[in-house]
Amino acid sequence: MPPADDRRDRESDGAVLELQNVSFTYAARGGLLEAVANVDLTIDRGEFVCIVGPSGCGKTTLLRLMAGFILPTQGKVLDAGEPVRGPDWRRGMVFQQPYLYPWLTVLGNIEFGPRARGVPAAERARLVQGYLQMVKLEEFADRHTYELSGGMQQRVALARVLANEPHTLLMDEPFGALDALTREHMQDELLAVWRRTGATVVLVTHSVEEAVYLGTRVVACSHRPARIIAEIETCFSRTNGAGSQGRTIKADPEFVRLREQVLGYIWD
Ligand code: ADP
Ligand code: MG
Repeated sequence: MPPADDRRDRESDGAVLELQNVSFTYAARGGLLEAVANVDLTIDRGEFVCIVGPSGCGKTTLLRLMAGFILPTQGKVLDAGEPVRGPDWRRGMVFQQPYLYPWLTVLGNIEFGPRARGVPAAERARLVQGYLQMVKLEEFADRHTYELSGGMQQRVALARVLANEPHTLLMDEPFGALDALTREHMQDELLAVWRRTGATVVLVTHSVEEAVYLGTRVVACSHRPARIIAEIETCFSRTNGAGSQGRTIKADPEFVRLREQVLGYIWD
């Protein structure tokens, strides 16, 4: 089980992820399609960065660049100063749909990464128990994932990535497929996980409200190709105690003002 205090030192300086003048062009059928243009972005350890922008502007492409699934056609992506050359367990990706292994139990899914990396059994058990508990699924450890609701499946997907102890969680509209109420609960659970682990989070969402609620910084992107048009510091996720305060915070005049400000950047 992970220690209660932050394993990663939030105080230590230095960027976790750095994008330097990054552009990406897809070679699509019969032509080129520029998805990301000249993005400069520095993400520090322990930050919670939310990326918003119009549909199809290049947000997923940006995350895939950070993950190392694709490499920039121009510019550099750096992880702790080192160029990203491919995917790495230390940068864990959570997708909109929880891609789980249906032939494995909840426990088996969470254990998959550490097992593949050769983590010894005792250490593996410790990790799995800790993260099962963190996402509140201890009672469901032996179930198959198809027996679970969408929200529970997404919690398994989160725990599965966390079991690799990534320094950064890359999340692509992770709650987009959930009903409104489950989504709000998941937001608070994610905040709790973020505080517990000290991990850096980069989350893409089409919900400006979600971004302002969760983020320590909101990055607003232009229409395709994605360029950064504004970066807005937010503070609600640092200060709120999570849980039932969520509704109050989202109705707070300062929250509403920031939400409208961010919306103003991406609204046409
Ligand atoms: P967003 O996540 O903001 O909706 P994406 O990053 O998924 O945007 O896509 C940006 C643009 O790149 C879109 O026009 C999309 O159609 C295009 N695109 C995405 N993936 C590919 C691909 N594999 N090949 C060609 N074009 C792609
Ligand atoms: Mg997308």
